[in-house]
Amino acid sequence: MGMVMIRCPDTGCAIPTGIKMDRERFRSSAVFFSRTYCRICSTTHEWFAKDAWVYESVPAKGKSGGWRSPRADAA
Ligand SMILES: [Zn+2]
Repeated sequence: MGMVMIRCPDTGCAIPTGIKMDRERFRSSAVFFSRTYCRICSTTHEWFAKDAWVYESVPAKGKSGGWRSPRADAA
């Protein structure tokens, strides 16, 4: 499971939508539309699935653009 993220159109910051979904399921899901409240802008941004991505805190493979524990590298 991962968190669906979008990019804030005003600040370019990644913000969590609060939606949790599998990456595969997210990809296979039909194009959908949602709204997410952005704390940075204090605005609700509207977004499409094509603008969003799934951020998984636990990388399934060795390399990931996201956060990972330093201890994972030593293992
Ligand atoms: Zn914003």
